Amino acid sequence: MLARSHLVVAACAYAGAVQSGLLQGGTGAIVACLLGGLAPDIDHPSSRFGRWLPLTSGVVTGITGHRGATHSLVAVAAVLGFGYWLTTQSTLPLPWVLGFTVGWASHLLADGLTYGGVPWLWPLRRRYGLGLMRTGGAGEAVFTTLALMGFGAWAWGRFAPWLSSGLPPGLRHLLA
Ligand SMILES: [Zn+2]
Repeated sequence: MLARSHLVVAACAYAGAVQSGLLQGGTGAIVACLLGGLAPDIDHPSSRFGRWLPLTSGVVTGITGHRGATHSLVAVAAVLGFGYWLTTQSTLPLPWVLGFTVGWASHLLADGLTYGGVPWLWPLRRRYGLGLMRTGGAGEAVFTTLALMGFGAWAWGRFAPWLSSGLPPGLRHLLA
């Protein structure tokens, strides 16, 4: 999937995690979640993360190839484990780690919808994909648009009362 689609899926995953009580919401957590949604593609030199961290990306790509280890359950567990360890060694907030992990997992789920699939059980090489859409294709565009609308509806429901409480009464009435 394209980076922008991954951002939308990560935003939806954030909404789901907050709504279900898995994740404590907040600016840090959502930023971490969005970054986590892009991070697994560090195994592709021309991805966002690949361009931000070319050296790391080069090493990871050289070892695993695209959609390798970073696109597996092992990676999700490692990110969560390492992140949790960091919270015990520093002031890194746990919700940031959870947000990043949720974003990372959402990336794998999203790539798992495509024909290419992901190697969930890496180091086993076999990839599992639902084959619902092709990366960058029309199906992905439709899916992303619907997901964005869903996230927008959630965000509106969550933040509109908060936003409107700081607005003049006339405008507040309009938004209510
Ligand atoms: Zn990917």
